[in-house]
Amino acid sequence: MQFHNPNSDVYVPDGSPADLALARTTHLAIGAHPDDLEIMAWHGILECFGKSDKYFTGVTVTNGAGSPRDGVYAHYTDEQMQAVRRVEQKKAAFVGEFSAHVFLDYASGAVQDGKNAHVVEDLQQLVAAAKPRVIYTHTLADKHDTHVAVVLRVIRALRQLPADQRPERLYGCEVWRNLDWLNDQDKVVFDVSAHENLAASLVGLFDSQIAGGKRYDLATLGRRRANATYWESHATDLASSVIFGIDLTPLLADTALDPNQFICSFIDRFAEEVTGRIAKLA
Ligand SMILES: [Zn+2]
Repeated sequence: MQFHNPNSDVYVPDGSPADLALARTTHLAIGAHPDDLEIMAWHGILECFGKSDKYFTGVTVTNGAGSPRDGVYAHYTDEQMQAVRRVEQKKAAFVGEFSAHVFLDYASGAVQDGKNAHVVEDLQQLVAAAKPRVIYTHTLADKHDTHVAVVLRVIRALRQLPADQRPERLYGCEVWRNLDWLNDQDKVVFDVSAHENLAASLVGLFDSQIAGGKRYDLATLGRRRANATYWESHATDLASSVIFGIDLTPLLADTALDPNQFICSFIDRFAEEVTGRIAKLA
């Protein structure tokens, strides 16, 4: 498989040929940076962990340059940071028993450029080879420009594929901004209570990001715990760890549906719920 960037790579933890590792994929996750998938797509990793009939493949679109750095990494150049982050992602792929992890190696600026067709072409090629049942990516309501650019490129790539090569489900999941604000009926609720030790290990492996002064490991597990407890006010906790998602599949079923309009319909329903409750109780 030939991607546009010369430093792109397909890492296969169990040493299988790359085309086989992609072809057996059932759950695919596409994120902007190393560590995004372990935060947002842990449900997919968990679904496939230890299974012989389900395989998770990760895709990191950017090269990870330009992240904040401190401690032992304080004096690392952008090139050294890219190398460290790639190794960290490979460690996570190994520990999480990924089928494969694909590094597309784009600069953030290239991903954010809506006219750059290369990202879309690489993603199409990947999805056509993997034919996953489920794809996880960022949400349209994320507050990180590169994350939103990635979900827009994913939607464009999938829309241009023949219908029978598209996934059954496309989910947008939480990283920069959670989805607790969604009305409950608009939430996809992923119970990720199992293997909490492994969840902690996976996010904790990205030491260069955590040493940069951000406790993503504690924050991510804390968010999942908070989601589980604040999900239902009148019942005891059924899950100890929950990730919220938005079902983006309608954007594939209706290729004329504007992503902006689509996400605004969720925001409108949220506004109606808030104002409706106040009107009822005033
Ligand atoms: Zn990210």
